[in-house]
Amino acid sequence: KTTRELLLSRIRDVPDYPKPGVVFKDITPLLADPEAFTALTEALAELCVRYGATKIVGLEARGFILAAPVAVRAGLGFVPVRKAGKLPGATLSQAYALEYGTAEIEVHAEDLAAGDRVMVIDDVLATGGTAEASLELIRRAGAEVAGVAVLMELAFLSGRDRLKTALRGAPLEAL
Ligand code: IMP
Repeated sequence: KTTRELLLSRIRDVPDYPKPGVVFKDITPLLADPEAFTALTEALAELCVRYGATKIVGLEARGFILAAPVAVRAGLGFVPVRKAGKLPGATLSQAYALEYGTAEIEVHAEDLAAGDRVMVIDDVLATGGTAEASLELIRRAGAEVAGVAVLMELAFLSGRDRLKTALRGAPLEAL
């Protein structure tokens, strides 16, 4: 089995979750399988090294689960990007549009600085709105974007197109 086949075999499709008509990609079987979770961690860590990252951003909440072991494996610091109102210190905030309404994410301003090259890690790239907002935050903090790495890209939602401008040539990798 290739890594791709192993990872795919451990992702569960859950129809009509969280609402009718949506097929949710559930990564909990992958997390529960040490061989698959290790393979995923190593593949993501390799991308961080390849693109010269010096820091890892994980996107709440499933992005945290993936980004933390990747940061340890790659020997890099982990920085959480959280939903608004969860971080206790001075934050930078970024609002972005959802299908209905808006959402807001935050990062501790002191966790990112000029000279940092940041890799953004998440489980799923859907519309790309969350990742796009995280790239804004990273640049507003004065840091540079090394790239975005996700387990899965839902290509039919065209997140890659939405992210194109914000990436400014940085790589988007989906395993
Ligand atoms: P986006 O902002 O539309 O790209 O949505 C991406 C965010 O929603 C990520 O943080 C994902 O964790 C989450 N997400 C969207 N669809 C799925 C899914 O099918 N499975 C797991 N997470 C999802």
